[in-house]
Amino acid sequence: MGTIRLSTTVPGPRARAILDRRLAAMPAGLAKSTEIVVERAEGAVVHDVDGNVFLDFAGGIGVVNAGHRPAGVVEAMKAQLDRYVHTCALVTTNTPYVELAEALNRVTPGEFPKKTILANSGAEAVENAVNIARYATKRPSIIVFEGGYHGRTHLTMSLTSKYSLFKKGYAPFASEIYRLTAPNLYRTPAGMTPEQFLDYCCDNLDHALIAQVDPEAVAAILIEPVQGEAGFVPMPARFLQKIRDLCTKHGIVMIADEIQCGFGRTGKLFAIEHAGVAPDMITMAKSLGSGMPISAVTGRADLMDAPHLGAIGGTYGGSPVAAVAAVRTLEIINTPEFLARAAAVGEQLRLRLESWKARFGAIGDVRGVGAMRVVEFVKDRTTKVPDPDLTLKIIREGVAGGLVLIRAGLFSNCIRLLPPIVITDEQLEEGLRVLESAIAKHAG
Ligand code: PMP
Repeated sequence: MGTIRLSTTVPGPRARAILDRRLAAMPAGLAKSTEIVVERAEGAVVHDVDGNVFLDFAGGIGVVNAGHRPAGVVEAMKAQLDRYVHTCALVTTNTPYVELAEALNRVTPGEFPKKTILANSGAEAVENAVNIARYATKRPSIIVFEGGYHGRTHLTMSLTSKYSLFKKGYAPFASEIYRLTAPNLYRTPAGMTPEQFLDYCCDNLDHALIAQVDPEAVAAILIEPVQGEAGFVPMPARFLQKIRDLCTKHGIVMIADEIQCGFGRTGKLFAIEHAGVAPDMITMAKSLGSGMPISAVTGRADLMDAPHLGAIGGTYGGSPVAAVAAVRTLEIINTPEFLARAAAVGEQLRLRLESWKARFGAIGDVRGVGAMRVVEFVKDRTTKVPDPDLTLKIIREGVAGGLVLIRAGLFSNCIRLLPPIVITDEQLEEGLRVLESAIAKHAG
């Protein structure tokens, strides 16, 4: 017997009543990729208020790599709740903050002294990283990439790509941001080989430092080693190495945004480790806290110590309950067994996705690293015209079949797979069968 159990259509009557209340009480612009109303969740399983049981292939958008409510994490949080919840890191010192900072300084790439500041969301981490890089270098400019997603605060939305979905209506944006082409090799321009396109993107970095902005004005180059919202686009090792070299040469801070691709998702603790590159700063959130709102910036100690006393921090940053959750989550994720399991889940996904690509003409590309995998749907394999409508239909069908799903992609034409790494082989197989029938029904 499988895990998925559907006793009503989705949404069922109880869910429908709550969805009506949502519609009346919450802003229309707050999107949702499913009509599932959650009652509880554990491991890779989500139960809804009508008693339906789903397999989670979205993982709260990459937040529950260690599963929903891992036992050690919940126990640590309960114990912390019995001691104290909040005194504020700007008022007193709380030990969980210190412990987490020490642990992140230890496990992040780079053999140099490091320091860590904690915050509450991914956007806040990126915003802190950029502020600190600007302060430390006394330079204004930031280089980012097409397809990149870094958050929705004013600064991070300015850093983010994909205009129509994320940015329309919110101008003006922050200045001194330069957005360059990212080597999305699937979308290699006609007439070029992927290698030539990669060469172009590497050369374009040099070119931009002449044509767009002076290297001595650039504080940071900010990049997701595997782009998340853009549709799981892995940045080739050579591109990341080129950025590293340029940053070293010109005294620019290299910031790796590992908010979606980090914390074991790709089979290594951090995705940039696949490229053998150590960034100067790394931003983390999502699976760091197993669902608790917590984020971090870990970076070179000399950079992190640059801002003057009082220049950084916030009321909730490093909340003790969230910090103990993160300390325990890191203990779970940063083990050879967990990382090997992420790679194994990734391989099972890769093989299945490759078989779908061979079978369904509407699939233009399947790609990813480790357990961060995506299916990209197109109207035509030659022209690669994106098919967001088909993508949405398949997601609806998959949800009706008992999966929690979410799309991605610069063109909203990808289904991203982010199941908790603790999913069993049987559950993964069951979920993949559901998704495969959904694709067969609408694209077969
Ligand atoms: N950076 C990346 C790479 C992300 O994927 C996200 C969230 N999708 C963010 C930053 C922003 O994180 P948050 O939503 O927690 O602000």
